[in-house]
Amino acid sequence: MTAAAAARALFGERFGREPVGTWSAPGRANLIGEHTDYNDGFVLPFAIEHRTHVALAPREDGVIRVASTFDDGVVELPLSALDPTFPARRDEVVEWARYPLGVAWALQRLTGRTDLAGVDLAFASDVPVGAGLSSSAAIEGATAAALAETWALDVDRVDLARAGRTAENEAVGAPTGIMDQMASMLGRADAAIFLDCRTLRTEVVELGFAPAGLELVVIDTGVKHSHATGGYGERRASCERGAALLGVPALRDVTPADLPRAHALMDDVTFRRVRHIVTENQRVLDTVRALREDGPTAIGDLLVASHASMRDDFEISVPELDTAVEASLAAGAVGARMTGGGFGGAAIALVARERVEELTDAVTSAFAASGFSAPTIFTVTPSSGAARDA
Ligand code: ADP
Ligand code: MG
Repeated sequence: MTAAAAARALFGERFGREPVGTWSAPGRANLIGEHTDYNDGFVLPFAIEHRTHVALAPREDGVIRVASTFDDGVVELPLSALDPTFPARRDEVVEWARYPLGVAWALQRLTGRTDLAGVDLAFASDVPVGAGLSSSAAIEGATAAALAETWALDVDRVDLARAGRTAENEAVGAPTGIMDQMASMLGRADAAIFLDCRTLRTEVVELGFAPAGLELVVIDTGVKHSHATGGYGERRASCERGAALLGVPALRDVTPADLPRAHALMDDVTFRRVRHIVTENQRVLDTVRALREDGPTAIGDLLVASHASMRDDFEISVPELDTAVEASLAAGAVGARMTGGGFGGAAIALVARERVEELTDAVTSAFAASGFSAPTIFTVTPSSGAARDA
């Protein structure tokens, strides 16, 4: 069964009636620009064909109910109970439900509307979870698109991306940036979204993988990460410390030419965190230029340099990700890097179509030789953003 059909089926099963419509939003892969988003910097993600689907029908009673194939139950709250205190009371609901309920809360807060109809929502997804492909943005985007239309909200796609981030930051408690939600809302077929995370201005950048005979391969290591705990928050704190020591609002305001001065101002670890962000921002700009001027075969070295910077300076890689990248390059990939927040998740490799199989075998063998669990390897196609489907 497709995820779209599964969302409809779940709706009938849990709510005992038919939905009025279905919406979906994609996961995303980030071509380059990692951890730059919360530093007001640049990122270049693209939406993928894996999507989270939601079936919806309005209710008469101002109650919101959510169900997912992830969970047996139905989570139910009056909409009036969400605003303004939902984040403070999030522990009252199971973790996954904080994503859609958080979006409903964020949209109420954003629009100031208090006259909203209740809704039933049922979710099903084919976005791998915790693989660095942002299943979280997909569920947020699907929820935001469905609710905005149902509630006839006067909002644009950037507002919906913002509501997703607000939900994730405040209702879930994961201190992530806005890249994932922007990619999920604004994605275009065969293109990446060049996003300035300070201004939220976007440009569509044609990727041209297919005409160049290239495939984008995702190597899901199966190593799970968690954004709500652990190293992500710590890296964020290091970046804030670095910016404060340099007297700038965000590391976006630091250029490669400033790095020697930065080195003198801070301890070695903080400096290396800063250097990753500053050089990564430059690599995003260089990648956009290379794609536009020379096409996708020209970006390989930038992808490889990005991985090295995350491994050595930002220290967010793990041995499985390094192995995925090294084996991909040895198998003839144009470029490869880990993608997503790090500490697990997925790597991406850009490779000629006729070498995908060779690369898959090489990475699988390298994992086996290192005693790692077998990775899941698949290609992704740059795809369109959140939409109503039926
Ligand atoms: P990812 O890298 O996949 O975004 P996150 O930890 O940020 O990983 O988000 C994953 C979490 O999002 C899941 O653990 C779950 O709580 C929620 N989630 C994602 N998709 C769904 C879904 N279809 N149904 C219910 N919850 C979901
Ligand atoms: Mg996520």
